[in-house]
Amino acid sequence: MIRIIGFDADDTLWHNENIFERAQERYRRLLAKYHPAAEVDVALFATEMRNFKRYGYGVKGFMLSTVETAIELTKGEISAREIREIIALGQEMLAHPVELLPDVAAVVPALARDYRLLLITKGDLHHQESKIAASGLAAHFSAVEILSEKDGAAYERVLRRHGVALAEFVMVGNSLKSDILPVLALGGAGVHIPYHILWQHEHAEPVPQDTPRFRCIERLAELPALLSGL
Ligand SMILES: [Mg+2]
Repeated sequence: MIRIIGFDADDTLWHNENIFERAQERYRRLLAKYHPAAEVDVALFATEMRNFKRYGYGVKGFMLSTVETAIELTKGEISAREIREIIALGQEMLAHPVELLPDVAAVVPALARDYRLLLITKGDLHHQESKIAASGLAAHFSAVEILSEKDGAAYERVLRRHGVALAEFVMVGNSLKSDILPVLALGGAGVHIPYHILWQHEHAEPVPQDTPRFRCIERLAELPALLSGL
């Protein structure tokens, strides 16, 4: 029987990837006079992948990668004024208001009355903490865990720390790779709620619909009714 629900945050409770997408669109326009858009995307993604080990996930690492990629693609021709515009793009992302996804404002407080809720996210500590504070949801979670990676070992550590048995645990999130697959592999339950944009790095093969303890739903409002069947 499910007693503890783990929630991913970005693109599960609030919009995130659309902010990256809009920033990247402006970044492409800024570099358009130097380079075709498709090549800008490929080069930026390659820089990000190279830098993960150093910077981790989040906007600040993204900012450093956009600056590095711009210098590379323009062979050092980019001006200080243009670099300043790129940095401003990232600073706007960090200041962007938190926009909750549909149903979140009603469903999360309702679930908090009957279940223990954990928020399990990854990314910049400082930025994630400010988003959680700005979301108005913090009081409904018994704990917040901001991890540098969401893999099996990380979930095991978190669940052990909170004394959570896998039989009683379900993780809810938009990423099969980070939110669902590691938890299913450990023996927990997973509910996938896809967001309309999936970051390339989070790509994973689909999970068969008949997988035990796995469900895929379109919106959060469907979650409460299916918890008893997990
Ligand atoms: Mg997410």
